[in-house]
Amino acid sequence: MKTFSGVGVTAGRVLGTVRRMPPPIAEPPVGEQLAADLTVEAATGNLKAAAGKVQTELKARAERATGDGKAVLEATALMAADPMLLKSAAKLIRAGASPERAIWEAGDGVASMLLNLGGYMAERSHDVLDVRSRIVAELRGVPAPGIPDAAEPFILVAEDLAPADTATLDPSKVLALVTSGGGPQSHTAIIARAMGLPAVVAAHGVTEVTDGTVLYVDGAAGTITADPDSAQQLAAEAWSAHASELAVFDGDGRLADGTAVPLLANVGGAKDAVAAAAAGAQGVGLLRTEFCFLGRDKEPSLEEQVSAYRGVFDAFPAKKVVVRTLDAGADKPLPFLTDASEPNPALGVRGYRTDFTTPGVLERQLHAIALAAKDSGTLAPADVWVMAPMISTAEEAAQFASLCSAAGLNMPGVMVEVPSAALSSRHLLTEVSFASIGTNDLTQYTMAADRQLGPLAALNDPWQPAVLTLIQATVEGAAQAAAGIGAGQARSVGVCGEAAADPALAVVLVGLGVNSLSMTARALPAVSAVLRSVTMEQAQNLAAAAVAAPSAAQARTSVRSQLPILDELGL
Ligand code: PEP
Ligand code: MG
Repeated sequence: MKTFSGVGVTAGRVLGTVRRMPPPIAEPPVGEQLAADLTVEAATGNLKAAAGKVQTELKARAERATGDGKAVLEATALMAADPMLLKSAAKLIRAGASPERAIWEAGDGVASMLLNLGGYMAERSHDVLDVRSRIVAELRGVPAPGIPDAAEPFILVAEDLAPADTATLDPSKVLALVTSGGGPQSHTAIIARAMGLPAVVAAHGVTEVTDGTVLYVDGAAGTITADPDSAQQLAAEAWSAHASELAVFDGDGRLADGTAVPLLANVGGAKDAVAAAAAGAQGVGLLRTEFCFLGRDKEPSLEEQVSAYRGVFDAFPAKKVVVRTLDAGADKPLPFLTDASEPNPALGVRGYRTDFTTPGVLERQLHAIALAAKDSGTLAPADVWVMAPMISTAEEAAQFASLCSAAGLNMPGVMVEVPSAALSSRHLLTEVSFASIGTNDLTQYTMAADRQLGPLAALNDPWQPAVLTLIQATVEGAAQAAAGIGAGQARSVGVCGEAAADPALAVVLVGLGVNSLSMTARALPAVSAVLRSVTMEQAQNLAAAAVAAPSAAQARTSVRSQLPILDELGL
């Protein structure tokens, strides 16, 4: 038995045999020349045709994918036709290089330029390298790199997955996903979570296991064991017996004492919304509108926006749908709003701040949301709330509220993602009607740890007591704001970051006074099952213990040890 430790992304105890990602496409030899029987024109034509085929294939996969996976594939497909990539390869062919060597070197050039830009653009460098290998495979007539095919379901082990691979994983074939690289907010992690696939990332050394080895993966603990013992086999069997129980949510989030805790879904568009409604979500707590338009270089038209939003509203007649206005920037660029050359995009003009540099887009978006809400095709229209991302001050909250009111939207809110917003929530919530805590960003900004980076995973953990203290401050500020306004004016505070999808942390959030939780629809059954095992008083005691803990690890261990249901259900 040999055990590897990493960061658990999705719970699940699974036993299976290993299939490793095939070796990457080998680099064409340095100095490889254009074949004597190939003209420059013919070679350039072959290259363009190969890039076109790669793009068509990625687009076709994007068509079949949904939500996050779709957006990732669309962005990668765009890269396959990147004019800079193809032009610099054509130039190298004119200088005598083979098309394979030319696209390889051109890919290196574009990737290192993106890496130098840092932030989101640095992340895109992986897409360029992925696309480059696919083009070389196409030129060589060998299979494209990617997920191995096997008759039996397997545990996929890889260094890290390219976005295009992750997005097209077949959950009926892949039992669990294990990577030696990547972080808890990497593409791999987000997509594994959305698919409900047990997954562990940043498991150093795990790629040394060979194909056919039997592995036991514990996605909650973040551990992987090669050649497991009988206790682990029993644990996997027990988990699979509970898996069916954890596959359904009855659409009624509550605690053991009957306290209602609405459980909502995070969605990226109409397809996700339909799936979330089918999974029992009690509404939408976060519609990431930027996911409807990722990679666009032009502002979407009013009609296009109305139709995208209406598709979501129609999936939730008479239910709450919280629309977040475009959160462009950092890991989610919209070229018509963001400046790719910013040195520090996470601290730059992103979210609500794009209204400072590109005024008008937000007003038009609010108008589109209002139109979609009004014209919603169903007899019982959705209850539409609107919130702005990356709000830092009460002035910004007030400006956003007045833009909402001008558009005829009467439930304005803010996301609490910046520590200043958490600390001044009393003032923010005097200006707007509700807040939703984005724990992904609140954690990265509290800990000053880039959420994309694997080596910072331990810092970037929403169990950090400092993060929990800020959540507590947000809730207390909301109560003070409500009392200040008077006349029964409640100020609800929800959580829509990934923290809400961690069943143990969900208990802590409710104990801290959070009113609703929004998460990937896959997480609803597990979160609901664990919430039903505790009373509000127990949740409050667990929350107090977590806030008072000296470290994230101790907060997590202390809470988990008092929630026996987690072990029973393998969560
Ligand atoms: C968050 O920051 O927690 C959040 C929900 O927003 P996003 O993950 O889209 O930045
Ligand atoms: Mg955020």
